Parts: sequence; C-alpha cells; structure tokens
Amino acid sequence: MSQFGFLQGFLDFFSPNSMMGSDVTACQALGSIFNNVTIYPTDTRYDALATENWSQTAWGSPTCIFQPTTVGELQTALPILVEANSSFAVRSGGHMPVSKAANIDKGVLIDMSKFGGTQYDAENAVINVGAGQRWGDVYTALDPLGVTIAGGRVMSAGVGGLILGCGLSYLSDLYGLVCDNVVNFEVVLADGSVVNANADSNSDLFWALKGGSNNFGIITNFKLRTFPIFDVWGGTKGYPFEALPDVLDALAEFQTNPEKDPYAQFNMNAYVTNTTFGVVLSLVYLKPDVKPAAFDPFYRIESSWATTMDTTSLRTLHNLMSEYPIPSIPRVEWTTTSFVPSSSMYSAIRKIFASSSSVNKMKEITAGTGIFTLQGVSARAVHEGNQRGGNALGLKPVPQSWFHTDLGWWFSDDDVAAHEAIRSLTDEVEAAAKSEDSYLPYLFMNDASLDQQVIKHYGEDNVKRLREVQQKYDPSEVFQKLVPGGFKLP
Ligand SMILES: Cc1cc2nc3c(=O)[nH]c(=O)nc-3n(C[C@H](O)[C@H](O)[C@H](O)COP(=O)(O)OP(=O)(O)OC[C@H]3O[C@@H](n4cnc5c(N)ncnc54)[C@H](O)[C@@H]3O)c2cc1C
Repeated sequence: MSQFGFLQGFLDFFSPNSMMGSDVTACQALGSIFNNVTIYPTDTRYDALATENWSQTAWGSPTCIFQPTTVGELQTALPILVEANSSFAVRSGGHMPVSKAANIDKGVLIDMSKFGGTQYDAENAVINVGAGQRWGDVYTALDPLGVTIAGGRVMSAGVGGLILGCGLSYLSDLYGLVCDNVVNFEVVLADGSVVNANADSNSDLFWALKGGSNNFGIITNFKLRTFPIFDVWGGTKGYPFEALPDVLDALAEFQTNPEKDPYAQFNMNAYVTNTTFGVVLSLVYLKPDVKPAAFDPFYRIESSWATTMDTTSLRTLHNLMSEYPIPSIPRVEWTTTSFVPSSSMYSAIRKIFASSSSVNKMKEITAGTGIFTLQGVSARAVHEGNQRGGNALGLKPVPQSWFHTDLGWWFSDDDVAAHEAIRSLTDEVEAAAKSEDSYLPYLFMNDASLDQQVIKHYGEDNVKRLREVQQKYDPSEVFQKLVPGGFKLP
C-alpha cells in the first residue's frame, strides 16, 4: 500500500478482479478526480494533443492524456499511476523526435504544457520558468529586462526536455551548458512528494538531473541564472556547397585556437542531400561589436566564395536566434557523436559525406533531406560546468565538436530505410574519429537517436552514482520501469 492509501479505494472500485488494462484503470481513476484535465480519445482535444510532438516519429496513441495545471494535481496523479502499475510518458515541449520518448501507446501521457509562467528575481539575477514553456516565451519575458539566459537556440523548442538533456546554448563557452545554469529544480517524485534540488538541498539529485532526463521525477519548475548579455552581433551566412572544404578549414582554425574568444559561437549546417541549400553558418558574438576579430577565419572564406545570404548585423540575441532556419519536414531522426576537432577529422567527414552509399540511400527516400551539423564546445565550457557543481555527463575538458546528422522524410514506409541510412553514416563518422584518434565517448542526449546508449556513455562512475541517486529518490524504480520512453539508466 502506498502512503497515498486512500487511492487504493479508487483503484479497487475501478478494477475489482477485472480484465481491464492498468492504463485503463489509471485513466479512469484520474478522470474521476480530474475530469477536466483527463482527456480521452473521444474528446475533441485528444487528436491535436496526441500528435503535438514536433516529429511524426514521436507521435503516440495514449489511452488518455493527463494535463495537470498545478503541482498538487501531479502529486495526486503520480501515486495513482504507480498503484495502477500503469505505464506513462512525460512531455514538455515534445521536440525530441525519438519515438515514444515523450509520448506513449497504451499508457498515460502526462502533458506538462500548462506549467507556464516566468518570474524574474532581479536581486538574485535568476528567473523561474515553468517546465511547459517554449524558449521563445522565456526570451520574450526577459526582453524588457535587458538580460538573457543560457537557454535553447531555437524559439519553438521546449524548456523541460532541453534542460534535462543538459542543453547547448550560445552562452555555453562562457558559462557552461544549459543544465549547469539551473539553480533549482522543483521535482515531483514517484511517491507524490515535492522536493527542491539545488546546491544546498538534495544536492545529489541536483547533480543527477543535470543529464539524467526523465529517470528521477517530473520537473515542474526550473530556476535559471540570468546574465547581462543582450545586444549582440551575428546572423546567418550561406555559402555554395562547393565552399564546404574552406568552411571546415575555417572551423578547425577557429575551434583549435588556444585563445578562442568565449563570446564567439558558431553553428554549421551542411545540406548533403540537397546541395543547392549549400552550407549555412550561424555566427554569434555575445557583445555588440561589428565583425569581431574572433571570426577572422570565417571572413577569409569570402575571398574565395561569395555568400548566398548574409544576415549578420547588430541586434538582440533573441532577434538573432528567432531567424534560425528549421526545415519543415514531417518525420525526423537524428544521431550524434563527438570528437576533438581538427582539419584532418573535418576532411575525413567531408570524404564520408561525398562518397558514402548511405547518402545515396537518403536521397532515394521520398523527400529525404540530410543535414550534418557541427557544434563547438570549448574546454572552458566544461570547466564552467564543473565550477557550478558539475553535471552527470562525464565530459573531458578539451575542445570538442558535437556532431549531429539530421534526416527528414515524408512517409512512415521509409522509417526503416531512414534509420539504417542515418545510423550507418554515423558509424562511419565514429570510425573515422577513432582512426584519427580524436573520438570522444560522449553522446549529446538532445541530438541522439533511440538506439544510442547515451547515459552509458557518461562513464561507469557516473552511471553508478546515478543509480545510487535513483535508489534514494525512486527506490521502486518507477521512472525506470513505468516510464519506458526516452534515455534510461543502463
Ligand atoms: C527545432 C529544434 C531546435 C532545437 N534546438 C536545441 C538547442 O538549441 N539546444 C539543445 O540543447 N537542444 C536543442 N534541440 C533538441 C532539444 O533539446 C530536445 O529535443 C529536447 O528534448 C526538447 O525539449 P522538450 O521539452 O521539447 O522535450 P520533450 O520532447 O517534451 O521531452 C524530451 C525528453 O525529456 C523528458 N522530459 C521532458 N520534460 C520533462 C519534465 N518536465 N520532467 C521529466 N522529464 C521530462 C521526456 O520524458 C522525454 O524523454 C532542438 C530540437 C529541435 C526540434
């Protein structure tokens, strides 16, 4: 019997010796208490909510959708799910394309989108953010205050999942990853209790949630540090696909500079299946300095190649990030690997994408759109994270590239072919990194595919520590066993 023993009455009432599934029992019990926010397939709200995830690969058919509006509702609901032994999923922004990471078939989908709102605390330079917010909501709230956060780089992405996967921000080289700048997590545990996890209180859980995703509880609110950064220089530069070798050389020079300026950030996308889109480079300088010297290696590309577009200008960081191009394709899968950047590693990648049969397979898929992305993380970003109490990721303090292949397509008939093509391409890149002696074991959860064992790659010691935290805060392993989706503890 749980400490919420009164619930047993509901559950006995709904399933005395019945053949009903535990998901049905749980939905009926939730619906009897929270009629308005328990949504069944017959409800007009259901279809839109069941298919709200950003990629169709992540859609589901939950038995019911529970949309709590308060922490108290969630506190009552979790023990009901546990007593009924019902599977469930947790979704904030629904931007992870991984199948059933944030949705479910035959189970309860807990949709956190009603956890909105932001409250700024100027004295402590922090902002409280509801788990169901999108990054655009948070930056909009910060605009009148002239400050920013280490947050997502695309406005539509969700706050909850991005932070729990640790999150890459344009501020990461300066202040660490997104999770490193959480000051407090408010968490509802499986037994329905609420705890705050921060540097002073439940500090073991605080550490574990920085990379631990949905394995410990449901996070309702994040308190995030703010920074006096507002006006910046930067934007997007486009180059013809043939300029890729020069862009990659510039990237290698920029990333391996021992004096790399932490205010200078980039993100590079190369459209390998539709080369007319070419190469798209986002440059961000976190001060209002026009054409800062930190980007000199990139300006030199323009002596050989005219840009196909150039939006670089002085503007606010929020305005700059709002223009980030997101192709609109219904189904997406992506994969990740990481390595130490060098010109020879980048040249190996270029050769793989020029000659791999997997790229041809991507082209054969209806509307198959393959992009590879390079994201730089400096050794300083890792040190900054450690200064703030550290995270569970097991990152080495070296300059690194978090490499990401993203494949979009149209029809579910192509799911298997798409998966095979993108996985074999990533395997080739990983093999090249190993033969270049630049491979790093870290896999970035926010860019990983379902069959990548993200948490295992945090390293044995960190996995052991995560398990210990799990035993303390979720001894029955509810989040490990009843929440099947997403990246689980190995
Ligand atoms: C267009 C786009 C832009 C992106 N940009 C960035 C970027 O700039 N930086 C970056 O790091 N990543 C980025 N990502 C990746 C993104 O961080 C992940 O997809 C992330 O999971 C999205 O967060 P979400 O709230 O939408 O997650 P969801 O899809 O809702 O959830 C993802 C996982 O987190 C768990 N989870 C979510 N909320 C909670 C909660 N409150 N409590 C417990 N568990 C929870 C879910 O169960 C699920 O397993 C981007 C993705 C897209 C599609």
